[in-house]
Amino acid sequence: MSLLPSTDEILIGGVWRPPTGGATLPIENPSTGRIAGHIARGTASDIDDAVSAAHTARVGAWGRLTATERGRLLTRLGELVRDNVEDLAHLEAADVGKPLRQGRADALALARYCEFYGGAADKVHGETLPYLDGYTVYTLRVPHGVTGHIIPWNYPMQIIGRSLGAALAMGNATVLKPAEEACFTALAFARLADKAGFPPGAINVVTGLGEEVGAALAEHPGVDHLSFTGSFAVGCLVQAAVARHAAPVTLELGGKSPQIVFADADIDRALPFLMNAGIQNAGQTCSAASRLLIHRSVYADVVARLAERYRALKVGPADQDLDVGPLISAQQKAMVQKFLDVAARDRLNIVARGTIVPNAPEGGHYLAPALLADVDPNHALAQDEIFGPVQVAIPFETEDEAVAIANGTPYGLVAGVWTSDGARQMRLAKAIRAGQIFINNYGAGGGVELPFGGFGRSGHGREKGFEALYGFSTIKTVAAFHG
Ligand code: NAD
Repeated sequence: MSLLPSTDEILIGGVWRPPTGGATLPIENPSTGRIAGHIARGTASDIDDAVSAAHTARVGAWGRLTATERGRLLTRLGELVRDNVEDLAHLEAADVGKPLRQGRADALALARYCEFYGGAADKVHGETLPYLDGYTVYTLRVPHGVTGHIIPWNYPMQIIGRSLGAALAMGNATVLKPAEEACFTALAFARLADKAGFPPGAINVVTGLGEEVGAALAEHPGVDHLSFTGSFAVGCLVQAAVARHAAPVTLELGGKSPQIVFADADIDRALPFLMNAGIQNAGQTCSAASRLLIHRSVYADVVARLAERYRALKVGPADQDLDVGPLISAQQKAMVQKFLDVAARDRLNIVARGTIVPNAPEGGHYLAPALLADVDPNHALAQDEIFGPVQVAIPFETEDEAVAIANGTPYGLVAGVWTSDGARQMRLAKAIRAGQIFINNYGAGGGVELPFGGFGRSGHGREKGFEALYGFSTIKTVAAFHG
């Protein structure tokens, strides 16, 4: 495919080349279980080279561009992404098993990030500060320098857009380590960036294993800021590694996000949001609404109507573009199945399942989505991130109880509140511990403009929107005495 002539090379300082040692890793198509290609198995030495190439770019051609020029490059890149949405969606389908319409949506989101951060690049600046007589004091907003980006496999394009888009807009030179399961669109993105005219070294991409290249990037003293999106366990390792050279780190981790449905909600409007936020991308979404807290007076009705929707869900290969695709791997499927085994052991009420289409390839990692009802808020299925198409419904009686359940996990990423009572909307927005609160919707269409990030085990720091531009830059204070 012209967009991605090869998948087993890495990009360092503007040059595509094999990794040191020349090793590769096989990549599986999750819809079929067959090999979809090979990626380069990068090494710590490749990370050294990438960080050094980024540093050279930072003090060279890339660092000399004005903010407006950086913005133009990003905008141009956004156009190229837009022109290649179909190819990118097919690459993602083969690599991640994403139904085509979700892949298209992700590619369009990547284009939007490039456009948004392209337009914002020259609109974030320092300030002048009132100070003592005889002084003029101002702040200069500057990039960190070299930024590292370690990302997961579930939404590669969206996360590249929000993370690299903002870092590049502020003038950082970047080193990207995509997840080993999902490198194709990351490599295609880098090819498009090259075409857009980014100077060599502004974007470097090293593929490979997390414990090899990911760890090497996190430990590298030449990395001035690290953005990590992934699991809590690896996030902790990464933060500890980065702490050894005292660089700042952004952690975008997992979640166990609730949607809370009050009796006065517009239930017809809520229903598709309640379910889709749990099964989108086969539930492999950090902000998946995996807990549905429903007021006792409407509980039976809402659960019955959700069950009906669940029974209509079709699961199958990415190219059939059904409601739900495969999980990323056999290992991921086994992890989700383990939760369902616990549910069966504990006799939880599995009210409805979706259906795997009969012609789904045997080697694909399919799992029928499951809706569970009457789950104790302290049960593992209501506490742990499952990262699969499983939602639990929990009844509540009072607003205080709903807030306590919503806040009753170690996570705090996103929450949805369904009620027509304006005062209650405001109270809950304040009371719930989450980085994004959606009132009478969930996700707000995923707006690139909307700052995103977590509390507690969901991480810290904010990406998306203007907030990311502050995170991917810092300030210097200049105090001039002139008498
Ligand atoms: P993961 O933590 O296993 O992997 C994430 C990345 O870290 C991958 O690139 C991996 O190669 C790398 N990695 C693995 N071991 C490493 C190490 N020792 N040192 C450095 N890097 C290492 O996560 P995953 O399974 O790819 O993704 C799923 C998790 O990501 C879920 O918990 C999900 O909620 C979370 N997630 C969060 C967000 C968010 O924005 N908050 C978005 C998407 C996914």
